[in-house]
Amino acid sequence: MSATATSAVLHRSLHINFPRIVGGEGNYVILEDERRILDASGGAAVACIGHGNTRVHDAIVAQLKQISYCSTSFYTTDVCEKLCQELVGSTHGIMKRAYIVNSGSEAMEAAMKLARQYYLEKDPPEPSRMRFIARENSYHGITLGALSVSGHAMRREKFEPMLLGCVSRVSRCFPFRDKHVHETDSAYVARLADELDQEFQRVGAETVCAFVAEPIVGAALGCVPFVPGYMKAMRDVCDKHGALFILDEVMCGMGRSGTYHAWEQEDNAAPDIQTLGKCLGGGYQPIAGMLASKRVMEAFEKGTGTFVHGQTYQGHPVACAAALEVQKIIREENLLQNVSDMGGLLSARLKDLLTGHPNVGDIRGSGLFWGIEFVADKTQNNKPFPSSSGVASGIAELGLTKPYCIAVYPGSGTADGVNGDHIIISPPYNISPADVETIATTVQRLVIDYFASKN
Ligand code: PLP
Repeated sequence: MSATATSAVLHRSLHINFPRIVGGEGNYVILEDERRILDASGGAAVACIGHGNTRVHDAIVAQLKQISYCSTSFYTTDVCEKLCQELVGSTHGIMKRAYIVNSGSEAMEAAMKLARQYYLEKDPPEPSRMRFIARENSYHGITLGALSVSGHAMRREKFEPMLLGCVSRVSRCFPFRDKHVHETDSAYVARLADELDQEFQRVGAETVCAFVAEPIVGAALGCVPFVPGYMKAMRDVCDKHGALFILDEVMCGMGRSGTYHAWEQEDNAAPDIQTLGKCLGGGYQPIAGMLASKRVMEAFEKGTGTFVHGQTYQGHPVACAAALEVQKIIREENLLQNVSDMGGLLSARLKDLLTGHPNVGDIRGSGLFWGIEFVADKTQNNKPFPSSSGVASGIAELGLTKPYCIAVYPGSGTADGVNGDHIIISPPYNISPADVETIATTVQRLVIDYFASKN
């Protein structure tokens, strides 16, 4: 079957014959030729309660029967109110309102516009604050605004110059490649905080509206957690310069990293604005969101009271019903505990089985969000493979074939934005110790066989 010859879909690649999925059951997806694929990445770290959950199906159908669509310009719904209440309630009183959209990119667009408008609403207004400072090797979405703050070189390069000409970037927080030998965590954090501070001064702090970061970097680096102290240090630099601190938890949030919000892993590091996606609805409906803090909302309440933003499908009741049920399941089944427990086991087994492999440079992550970085030569400063070798996508493609039948999520650009490869393992939150063992041993076999076939 050739996607080019038979498909009317404008696929991401016109050269790949994408296998056709015909079903999904629990942690497996089923392909047309009956291959059962262990969904060890939940797609792009989305399917957090697996596939085919009947509770979510029933919630969707019940909502469809009540009201399938309404415009949030005129109405609100119980289901959207309840979901936003639940999201706001999960933030220990830090966030005041939630805004529901359809994708992580849209959530980031809303977050950036809310930040810009905040400086017009606050008293006194600061209209000069239009700039964003973001980080290298970051990914915040594919729409032109969100891509403008992203530091993902390969996803940007064909679209330069970006629409937002007011973004500058500071270094990523990536100890595997960037921390100096013998540098302590606190010295590394101080170096990065100083760089951010200098960047505020370089561009003029009074022009900066927000610093934007992913607490645990997903697609652009492969599950790189922040170094202890980093988030608080960055929050402090933003406070020093009166700018907002925006955290993008589209990929790492909603329990994926072991806490409901990744920022909960560090004291006094809560954001002013936060985005959510993926595991909000677990893939049962397209849904994402943005949370706005008391500080931000109070400026709007005293100001115009109007956020100049809106989309036809925002707060979609059916998507909200799916997300509300997914979140109920996570809570009622105590799945965050399982994410922590199984995450510990997964990390230990991946490290046991793969650390010694000559092409495995680093294994890092948090909760059920793990990345494996592949290198061409460990002895030469973890020299990356060139992007042209397609290592990560090659491993992911081989994974779908027999006997492995496992889905892992590939990424590239890890070393310098272009070269360097990783895969992400982000299975459903309800996996068992036996599933962890299957994932770890299958990934080990896959990695060994892939590199053996290249030598
Ligand atoms: N932000 C982060 C951290 C992401 O990982 C992604 C997608 O992978 C996005 C934003 C964009 O989300 P979406 O693809 O749902 O638009």
